Amino acid sequence: MHQTGAVVLKAGREKSLQRRHPWVFSGAIDEVLGKVRQGETVEVRTKDGQVLGYGAYSPHSQITVRMWTFNPNEKVDHDFFRERIRRAIELRRPLIAGDDVTAYRLVYAESDGLPGVTIDRYGEYLVCQFSSAGAELWRHTIVEALGEATHASGIYERSDVDVRRKEGLRERTGLLAGKEPPDLVEIWEGRVRYLVDVKGGHKTGFYLDQRENRAYVARFAAETELLNCFSYTGSFGVAALAAGARHVTQIDSSGPALDISRKNIEINHLDPAQVEHVDGNVFQVLRRYREEGRRFDVVVLDPPKFAEARGHVQKAGRGYKDINLLGFTLLRPGGLLFTFSCSGNMEPALFQKIVADAALDAGREAQLIGRLSQASDHPVALSFPEGAYLQGLVCRVW
Ligand code: SAH
Repeated sequence: MHQTGAVVLKAGREKSLQRRHPWVFSGAIDEVLGKVRQGETVEVRTKDGQVLGYGAYSPHSQITVRMWTFNPNEKVDHDFFRERIRRAIELRRPLIAGDDVTAYRLVYAESDGLPGVTIDRYGEYLVCQFSSAGAELWRHTIVEALGEATHASGIYERSDVDVRRKEGLRERTGLLAGKEPPDLVEIWEGRVRYLVDVKGGHKTGFYLDQRENRAYVARFAAETELLNCFSYTGSFGVAALAAGARHVTQIDSSGPALDISRKNIEINHLDPAQVEHVDGNVFQVLRRYREEGRRFDVVVLDPPKFAEARGHVQKAGRGYKDINLLGFTLLRPGGLLFTFSCSGNMEPALFQKIVADAALDAGREAQLIGRLSQASDHPVALSFPEGAYLQGLVCRVW
């Protein structure tokens, strides 16, 4: 085989790999055979010599190997990446064929069998994030394969993510192939257009994972007064207004994000008089609204990740409780709360309990009328439940 080294697991530590979970933690490793450099492919073996597959070696990370394949006969080479990318694109076929959605996640890392590789499409551009040593080593191969498979006009890198540090990699952004995307790329989601700052915005520029939830909110938006908290570039509010909302309030603490939200209103020919942009801290603004007695028909709460690590769940819980309590308080009877958590460490049962406690403390009676999750272009491999991170509850309030 082409790989130079092998990782031998401690006796009994092969269980999760046999269940096709793609991570080998440093503590499970008995020895590393051969001279293996960062990112290179290693054979992964049980203590008694059974080959489990091949993965990328990352000596600086707690996750020392990320599996590329569980097939001992599969070679990790150019064709391997071409095939994985083809499979990922195939899954998105319904989105691509529809033509009315021009932005989606094309490759979602572990969930698509490509650990550390995230690729988003924004119209004619692709934006890549390489977050592991293995992804880094193969990035040129991946970019080449993407070029062949998609004929994108430009491929841009946004590997400016913290996790790279754990892998011993520096952050990097810049053009990888083709032409440079403009400062704002225009995308379509059904009848609605959005401008996306792919070079400097959050993540790769836009919250693609909320696409289906934007459509869901829009279904309930006609004739409503809607409060969109943590609005970023305003997507929920823009979708709601396009669906006939009477008034939308967008709150975010990022001025540049709100500027793009204003532009999004404009390019969709919506009436700026029906939108208020508030540059502020949601926790404070909602308290002020409560004191002023303001009320809304729909409240959307889509905060950033409050629980970055497992140890932060309790503190995060207080944050979720606080905003949900305020959200419930600001709703008119019959109103709807769309409340999200994008903290992968937040167990759904706990999140629901926090929201239930918030309703109780707000003195409101509420029913759960829907459960939401990340869009279908962000699949979750059944062998890798860590791929699920976004959850939402839809509550009707009395
Ligand atoms: N709902 C958005 C995505 C939200 S991302 C969408 O659909 O596109 C979280 C947003 O919360 C970011 O834009 C960030 O600027 C903002 N933010 C974080 N903490 C905040 C706070 N305390 N008050 C207001 N906005 C905050």
